[in-house]
Amino acid sequence: AARLCSGAGGQAEAAGGDGAMLRHLARKLRASGPVTVAEYMREALTNPGQGYYTRRGGVGESGDFITSPEISQVFGELIGIWFISEWMAMGKPNIFQLVELGPGRGTLTEDILRVFKQLASVLSKCDVSVHLVEVSPKLSEIQAMMLTGGKVQPNPEEELVYMKGISKTGIPISWYRDIQDVPPGYSFYLAHEFFDALPIHKFQRTEKGWREVLVDIDPEVPDQLRFVLSPSRTPATQNFIQPEETRDHVEVCPEAGVIVQRLASRIEKDGGAALVADYGHDGTKTDTFRGFRNHKLHDVLSAPGTADLTADVDFSYLRRMAQGKTATLGPIKQREFLKNMGIDLRLQVLLQNSSDTATREQLLHSYDMLMNPEKMGDCFNFFALLPHHRLVHPDKKDKPESNSPLPPVAGFNELLLK
Ligand code: SAH
Repeated sequence: AARLCSGAGGQAEAAGGDGAMLRHLARKLRASGPVTVAEYMREALTNPGQGYYTRRGGVGESGDFITSPEISQVFGELIGIWFISEWMAMGKPNIFQLVELGPGRGTLTEDILRVFKQLASVLSKCDVSVHLVEVSPKLSEIQAMMLTGGKVQPNPEEELVYMKGISKTGIPISWYRDIQDVPPGYSFYLAHEFFDALPIHKFQRTEKGWREVLVDIDPEVPDQLRFVLSPSRTPATQNFIQPEETRDHVEVCPEAGVIVQRLASRIEKDGGAALVADYGHDGTKTDTFRGFRNHKLHDVLSAPGTADLTADVDFSYLRRMAQGKTATLGPIKQREFLKNMGIDLRLQVLLQNSSDTATREQLLHSYDMLMNPEKMGDCFNFFALLPHHRLVHPDKKDKPESNSPLPPVAGFNELLLK
């Protein structure tokens, strides 16, 4: 099964693992007191020695959770077409970078590069390069194998680019730990199930005002963690709760905010677009923090480092953090986005081209996983950052009648077949 959408409930899996991360955290909590949920999540996921993504990063069927690109090649193909379509709408610049944040096993980029290869005649005069932002050494190895067949060079002298290679289709690929290290330039950014893995702060409304939820050691049970509330306001309660907030429980992911600010500044300055796909809401949900192990819900405080921890993306927060530097589109439901991108036609072609029953069944099954509102169709969303001039002519105010209409942005508008 895919990672369930929030609120799905269910029995969490019991503790396990070798306990190294738990012992490390327990020592830290005993020495210096409770930590924010964000700090706990960062340790559990990306601690350089013991973090879940650092050591394990279980994306895929044999891992802890499965994602859309792992379910069907069609998903990545349609995203590849989205980038080509935007590239064309923006006047076919002769160079662009494809930048993926948190590429997992590299499957999505692999499917996109296949589309770029199939459309080589369209892209023939364009200089394309791929830039992957990945903190996990384990996953970057898997990506290198998937995309280059293992033909990569570690780059110990160059601190910013830690690995380089050439894709099987001949496109240069570079690996970075941080989006800030990716060179500036006209770029298409992609973040699929990336923002949900970044650390969140959690806040609870109480009679005494907003309090931050913290993680502490349980005094009754050795080496067991528990949630507590901060006794007074913390700097985060001051900074992250909107004055007009009506919910009683709020999650905020400042790291996602900083990254969106960077993407928006880059797109404003150098052009391009960003496509974000994730489960999430538009500033309405409350407690969505959950863990996954072996495709089952897992208690977030149990055996840290052995399970994926995740929270829904708040798209209203991302929109606010773009600070008007770019236009934003969405969030739009995955099933609507993929339908607008022509998934039904693509499925028909693949069905016609496959003669054996097993392949046809697999195609129909994966279509259902991606599109069914009860599965991934409704809870996953697409959201885009685009330069303002992509949606409104810059001189529209002065001469509204003189401009030809701008082409609609694919995926966010209904597909019209001419
Ligand atoms: N996009 C992939 C993988 C999603 S899992 C897919 O949809 O299948 C999240 C990915 O983000 C993993 O590759 C993980 O190692 C990476 N990641 C998590 N935190 C990160 C951070 N702070 N910076 C860069 N990558 C990160």
